[in-house]
Amino acid sequence: MKLLKNKALIDGRWVDASGGGVFAVVNPATQENLGDVPDMGKEETLLAIAAASKAFKDWSSLMPAKRAEILKNWAKYIEEEAESLAVLLTSEQGKPKGEAISEIMSCVATLRWCAEEGCRLYGEFIEGAKPGTKIIISRHAIGVVGAITPWNFPASMVVRKIAPALAAGCTVVLKPAEATPLTALALGELALQAGLPKGVFNIVTTSNPKLVGEALTSDVRVRKISFTGSTRTGKILMKQAADNMQKLSLELGGNAPFIVFPSADLDKAVAGAMASKFRNAGQTCICANRIFVHQDIYQSFLDRFMTAAGKLVVGNGLEKDVSLGPLINIQAIEKIEQMIDSAKKAGAEVLMGGKRHALGKTYFEPTVITGAPLSCSLATEEIFGPVAALYTFKTEEEVITLANDTPYGLSSYIYSENIGQVWRVSDALEFGMVGVNEPFLANDLAPFGGVKESGIGKEGGKYGVMEHTNIKYRLWG
Ligand code: NAP
Repeated sequence: MKLLKNKALIDGRWVDASGGGVFAVVNPATQENLGDVPDMGKEETLLAIAAASKAFKDWSSLMPAKRAEILKNWAKYIEEEAESLAVLLTSEQGKPKGEAISEIMSCVATLRWCAEEGCRLYGEFIEGAKPGTKIIISRHAIGVVGAITPWNFPASMVVRKIAPALAAGCTVVLKPAEATPLTALALGELALQAGLPKGVFNIVTTSNPKLVGEALTSDVRVRKISFTGSTRTGKILMKQAADNMQKLSLELGGNAPFIVFPSADLDKAVAGAMASKFRNAGQTCICANRIFVHQDIYQSFLDRFMTAAGKLVVGNGLEKDVSLGPLINIQAIEKIEQMIDSAKKAGAEVLMGGKRHALGKTYFEPTVITGAPLSCSLATEEIFGPVAALYTFKTEEEVITLANDTPYGLSSYIYSENIGQVWRVSDALEFGMVGVNEPFLANDLAPFGGVKESGIGKEGGKYGVMEHTNIKYRLWG
């Protein structure tokens, strides 16, 4: 397979683990071994931190326009290799190739946006409080960033961290997910080809994330931890990072309400719910987790939603026309089986699917469930699978209360053509993001991120780049 690397990237060199250990990367669609990658630990992480720390001085003092030129060059290389990267991504992660191409192209856009934004890190000048004094405010790259990413978006989760960090002048040590390191390594190869200096972007692969996480958080040279993954791991890293007072960006789990009001354009709402629920086989942090439909339109919505879900084609994401790939591993299947089982015991009705797909392995049937009590794990936890759970509501006040009744606060969605209602409800939702008649919240321009237990900080837009800077203020007397 093109761009397949089986070494890690430290200080511009492709290297093995010091003890020679490796772990296998498995294709979830076929269960074939795609290749072995180095199984690294503390020793190699320290080498990567040392390389990033050494590279920081030169990289952070380059003119922003020069950094932008390299990042744009990297974007060009990625764009040229979009097809090969998408094949690699689908092979290790499972999503349909069309979705993989979109993910790769989002990386191209992110790099271009951040390259430009890095040139606009303006300071401020303020007349001082005492006569004759001046206040000068400037932004400075924060230092070495330790980045840890999940498996569900093996390319865009990486680039959404690396691009703003590099644009701001930071250097990076990345630990990609154990299940999907190959796309990250391929991106590293293209970064080198694009002229990124050695040590600026390092990649440490491991099957022991705890060791690498501890090495990153216990080293004073690492000034920021940028993590995307579960709330559970985010809390562990936050505690660890406290000892060295490292700055944190945490993009964590969600439990998105998807609310459909009577005035909604039903075709648009069904298309939005389908995209939000079944993209990446339901394995996105912003997936619709609880679909609330007003009782007056519930039956029409359900009928159309069932028709649309019935058209999903399950299979290997590399095959033409497949719209629903496998889940990442067998644990993911077991987790949703338990959720469905307990919902059924509590009185829920499975209208479609509800079981493993005839293709075997980690394939699961698209599933539609109604009548589950909101106390079920289907409603209280992230489903992270192709399971749509629908609920009804009567009033706006009731659905706002239900939607906010979760410790998470990442994404939320409302479908309504009533403008007053859109303002009221979007104001009242305790979430970092609200999609109004729109399911695709992630883009380069916008500040992506959650509140409550969904995290701290923003990725995307000018905010993502700024998160990688410290503000310095000079008082001029
Ligand atoms: P996870 O188990 O927390 O893993 C995420 C990353 O953290 C992986 O690289 C993992 O390594 C690593 N990790 C695990 N334990 C660690 C530790 N003790 N110290 C340091 N690193 C550690 O999450 P996941 O199951 O891979 O990803 C799914 C979760 O990510 C969901 O909750 C989803 O909502 C969330 N997510 C959030 C966003 C967002 O933007 N808010 C985006 C995508 C996903 P291994 O791969 O080796 O386990």
